[in-house]
Amino acid sequence: MYVKNQKFLIIGASKSGFAVAKYLVDNNAFCRVYEEMKSAKAIQAIDRLKTLGIENLAREQAETLIKEIDVLVLSPGVPINHELAVKAKQMGKRIMGEIEFAYDAMLPPIIAVTGTNGKTTTVTMIDEILERAGVKRELVGNVGVPITAKLNDIDRETVCVTEVSSFQLESINSFCPHISCVLNISPDHLERHYTMENYIYLKKRIFKNQKESEYCVLNFNDQTVKNFYTECKAKIIWVSIKGKVDGAYLDGGKLYYNNEYVLDAAELMLAGEHNVQNALFAIACAKLLGINTTEIASALKGFKGVKHRVEFVAEKYGVEYYNDSKATNTASTIVALDCMKKPTVLILGGSEKGEDYNLLFEKIKSSLVKRVIICGASRFSMLEAAKNNGVENLTLTDDFFVAIKIAKLVSCEGDAVLLSPACASYDCFNGFEDRGNAFINAVGEL
Ligand code: ADP
Repeated sequence: MYVKNQKFLIIGASKSGFAVAKYLVDNNAFCRVYEEMKSAKAIQAIDRLKTLGIENLAREQAETLIKEIDVLVLSPGVPINHELAVKAKQMGKRIMGEIEFAYDAMLPPIIAVTGTNGKTTTVTMIDEILERAGVKRELVGNVGVPITAKLNDIDRETVCVTEVSSFQLESINSFCPHISCVLNISPDHLERHYTMENYIYLKKRIFKNQKESEYCVLNFNDQTVKNFYTECKAKIIWVSIKGKVDGAYLDGGKLYYNNEYVLDAAELMLAGEHNVQNALFAIACAKLLGINTTEIASALKGFKGVKHRVEFVAEKYGVEYYNDSKATNTASTIVALDCMKKPTVLILGGSEKGEDYNLLFEKIKSSLVKRVIICGASRFSMLEAAKNNGVENLTLTDDFFVAIKIAKLVSCEGDAVLLSPACASYDCFNGFEDRGNAFINAVGEL
C-alpha cells in the first residue's frame, strides 16, 4: 500500500492508533484521529497525538470526514461494528485494523500495466516520468529484469513499474498492485488461452485483489475493458481519447487530467492515437502518485519511443524504412498502418497465434498500403484472408530476407516500407528483437 496522497481516519488514539498516525505523518499522508473515550489513558493518548500535530476530532467532524477518506483504520479496542465503521463500509471505504495496515504498508507500491498492446511503451513512459520527478523506482518485469532479481534493492518506498502479461496473470494468487492499468483487449495468444472469454478473464485478474484503497485505470473507449469497472473494488480512473471523462483524456488535441491541461498531442514525438492513449495512461499513474504536471509534460515531450515499435530505421534511395517487429498481432499492425503517411509497402507474416486475419486485410484495403509482401509460416492463411477481402497487390515468399529485397524493388521514391508482421517470429527467429535487428541490418545493406 502506498499511503502518500491517501486520506486516513483512525479510530482510537491508543498505542496502535498512534503508531499508524506516526507512520502516516512520516510518509506524507493525510491523517486524522477520532478518540471517543474519556479515561485518563485516552486523554494522555490524545495529548501524545498533539506531538504529531494532530488534534482529536469531534464526533460530527469525524462523521463528515468519512465521505472524503480512502481508508478507515480501527485500533484493536474498537469493534468492527462501531457506528463510524458501519457508515464507512456503507460508503464503500476500505476498513482495516492496525495489523492489516502494517502488513499492507510493508509491501512496495506496484504499478502494473496489462493489455494486449502498448504495455512496454506505457511502462517505459511511466518510468521516464518517475525518473524526471526524482521518484525512487524500478522498471521490472518483461522490460529489464524480473522483479525477483531486484528484490534486494527494493524497499517500501520504491515504486515498481511492471507490465503484466496474460501468461503471468494465469498464476497470480495474492498479487495486488497499488495502481493497475488495462490498456485494451483484442484477440491474441489464443493458441495458449483457447478462447477470448478465457483471455478476458485472465486480464481481469490484474485487479482481483485490489481493495477500495487502490486504483484501477481503465480504457473508456474499449467496450470490453470499460465493462470491467462493474467487477472492480478499486477506485476507477478513466482514460479516453474521445473527450472528457473522470481521469485522463484527449479533448481538442490537448491532453488533460481532471480538467488540468497537461500537454498538446502534437508535442508527443510518437505518431498515432494509440500512443496518445498510452501517454494518457502514464499521466493517470503519475498524477495518482502526486507528480506535478510540469514534470509529467516535460518527460512525455522528450519520450522517443521504444525500439521495434514503428521505429524509423533509415531512408534509402528516397524510401523510408520502419521496423515494427513487435507488432505480433493484427490489432498492433492496424494501429501501425494508421501512423503511415506515405504510400506503403507492408511486410507481413511469421508464426501463427490462432488469429483471424480478415479485419487486418479489410483495414489494408482502406489504408495507404500499395503492396503487401507476405512471408513466413502464416503466408497461406494470410493469402486466403487477402483473397476474401479483395486485396490483390501482393507477393508471397517463404523467406524473410527475400521479402525485404522485394520491398526494395517494388518501392519508389516517396514511399515507405513497414515491417509490421501481425504474427510472432518463432518460425525463423528467437523473438521479435532478433527479427527487428535482422530487418535493421538487412536495410543497412540495401
Ligand atoms: P506490448 O508490450 O503490450 O506488446 P508494446 O508497447 O511493445 O506493447 O507495443 C507492441 C505493438 O503494439 C507495437 O507494434 C506498437 O506499435 C503497438 N501498440 C502500442 N501501443 C498500442 C496501443 N495502445 N494500442 C494498440 N497497439 C499499440
